[in-house]
Amino acid sequence: MSTLVEPLRMVLLADSSEWAELLGQLLNTIDNPSPLITAPNWEAASSLFDSPDNGLLLATPDRLPSLDQCPLPVVLLLEQEPDQPPAGVSDWLVRSSLNADVLRRCLRYLHEQNRFRYSLQRLAEQDPLTRIANRQGFQALLNARLSECREGGLVLGHLDLDNFRHVNDALGYQSGDRLILQVVTRLSALLQPGDQMARLGSDEFALLLDVGRDPQRAGHLAERITEALAEPYWIDGESLLLGCSLGLAHAHPGETADPLLWHAHIAMQQAKSQQGCAFHFYDERLNRGARSRADLEGELRRALRRDELELQYQPRLCLKSGRIVGLEALVRWQHPQRGLLAPGEFVPLAEESGLIVPLGYWVIARALRDMQWLLGRGLPPLHMAINLSFRQFQDSQLLTTLSRLIEERGVDAQWLEFELTETAVMRRSEQVQQTMQALAQLGVRFSLDDFGTGFSSFVHLNNLPIALLKIDKGFVGGMSDRAENRQLVRAMINLAHNLNLEAVAEGVESVEQLDMLRQFGCDQVQGYLISKAVPLAELARFLVFGMHQPLLSSH
Ligand code: C2E
Ligand code: CA
Ligand code: CA
Repeated sequence: MSTLVEPLRMVLLADSSEWAELLGQLLNTIDNPSPLITAPNWEAASSLFDSPDNGLLLATPDRLPSLDQCPLPVVLLLEQEPDQPPAGVSDWLVRSSLNADVLRRCLRYLHEQNRFRYSLQRLAEQDPLTRIANRQGFQALLNARLSECREGGLVLGHLDLDNFRHVNDALGYQSGDRLILQVVTRLSALLQPGDQMARLGSDEFALLLDVGRDPQRAGHLAERITEALAEPYWIDGESLLLGCSLGLAHAHPGETADPLLWHAHIAMQQAKSQQGCAFHFYDERLNRGARSRADLEGELRRALRRDELELQYQPRLCLKSGRIVGLEALVRWQHPQRGLLAPGEFVPLAEESGLIVPLGYWVIARALRDMQWLLGRGLPPLHMAINLSFRQFQDSQLLTTLSRLIEERGVDAQWLEFELTETAVMRRSEQVQQTMQALAQLGVRFSLDDFGTGFSSFVHLNNLPIALLKIDKGFVGGMSDRAENRQLVRAMINLAHNLNLEAVAEGVESVEQLDMLRQFGCDQVQGYLISKAVPLAELARFLVFGMHQPLLSSH
C-alpha cells in the first residue's frame, strides 16, 4: 500500500457533524497526516488557500459553493448513490459505500490530477527545445522583476535573428533547432547573474538585463551580443552566417510588461530597418512607439481593404485511416514592403485594436469560399478549422454574421470547425458558453487549441460543445527527449478520450513522434512531417496526390 506523497489540505463543508466523524476515522486508518479542516462555508475557508495546487474541498450538496468561485477540486458528499454523475465536481463519495479504500482511491486520483496540473503549468512556461522561459513564462517573470525595479535598473532587449526562416527552409527544422541552441549558448555566455533570457518565438528572444550598477552596461553588452551572434555557426559540417537585430528599452518603476515589450519590439524593428545597424535603443522623446503602432494599425486596415491578406492551409491526418481529414486555415499578410508576414507579427495587434473582428470575418468568408472550391474540384469534404480569438466572441454580431456567411456560401456547417484556446474558453465562461451552444446548434464543431498551455479547469470542459482537443506543439516537440513530456502527452490523449473528445497532436515533425503518438492512441496529427501550411493551389495538388496514396497509414 502506498501513501500519498504530499498531503492534500482538506476542507470539509458539511451540514452534519457525522461526516466529520466518519471522514476523521477513515483518514486515521489510511495514515494520511493532513488534518481535515471543518468550516461553516466556503467564504470562511477560502482564505486558507492562495493557490489551488494542494487543496481539496469536501462538501455536502447544501454547502456546495458556486463552482465558479471555488478554485479547488471539489468532492461531493452524498447520502445516496446519485442517478447520474453529479455535474461540475471532480469526484463524489456516498456515505453507505464509503470505506478507507474508497477514500484512499479518491484522494490518490485527485492528487494525481493536481500533480498533472502542476507539471503542465511548469512546462507551459518553458521552451521545450532550449529549456529557457517561453513567452508566457517570461511575462510572469518580467512582471515580477518590474514590480521591484528601480529607475535605471533594468533594460529589456528584444532580439530577432535575421533570415532564420531561410535557414529552416534550406537545411530543415532539425538544423534550425541546432542553430537556435548555439545561439542560446552564445547568449548565456555573455549574461551574468541577475540577467534573464527567454525565447519569445521561433527566432525571437527576450533579454532582461540588470544594469543597476553600471548604466553603460546595456550598450556594451548589446555590442558584444551582436558581435558574438555574427560569428559563423557550424551546422551539419557547414558554416553559416546569421545577422540579428536587437531592440532595447529602459524600464521605469511602476511600468507594466506590455508597453515595455512593445517599446523593445519597436526598437528592434528600427534596428532592422537601418542599414548595418544591429542594435537600437527605444527613444521615448521621439515617441515613435505611438506612431509606429498607429502606423501598423492603419496599414492593417488598408490591408483588409486591399486584399493583402491570404490564407494558407495545413492538413490534418487521421492516424487510423492514414487519410487527410481536415485543414487548418492560417492567415498571412502579403505586406507590400515587408513581404509575407506570419500571424505572430500582426494578429496580437489586431486583437488589441479590435481589428481582429473584421479580419476574422474575412478569414471565415475566404475559408468558406475555398471549401467550396475544393469540393468543386471533386475532392471529398474535409473539416475546415478556423482560429477564433476571444475578442471575436465579444462581437454581438458573431452569431448572425456567421449564420449568414454559412448560408450565402452554401456550406454544410458540419464541416466547419472553430479552434478556441483554453484561455478564451475559460475567460467569460457564461457568454462564451452560450455563443458556443448556439453555434453548435448550427452544426459547427469546436476544438480546444494549444491544450496544456493555459491550464484551467477540466470541470468546465464537460459543459462545452467541444469535439477535439489539440495538444500544443510545445509538448509534442519535447517528446523525443523528455520522459515527462511523453507522459503528459499520453495523459492528455487519455483525458481527451475520457471526455469523449478526439485528440489531435500539433507540431509533429518526426516519424519518431508520430510512432509514439500512434502508440498512445492519438486520433489525428498535424505538423511539418505531414505538411506545412500551404497556399490553396498547392494544397489541392497535395490532396489529389495524397488521396490516391494514403499517407503514412498504419499498415
Ligand atoms: P496555432 O493555431 O497554434 O497554429 C499552429 C502554428 O504552428 C502555425 O503557425 C503553424 O504554421 C505552426 N506549425 C504547424 N506545424 C508545425 C510543426 O510541425 N512545427 C512547428 N514548429 N510549427 C508548426 P502560424 O501560421 O505562424 O500561426 C501562429 C498562430 O497565429 C496560430 O497558432 C494561431 O493562434 C494564430 N492565427 C493564425 N491564423 C489565425 C486567424 O485566422 N485568426 C486568429 N484569430 N488567429 C490566427
Ligand atoms: Ca490553431
Ligand atoms: Ca495550436
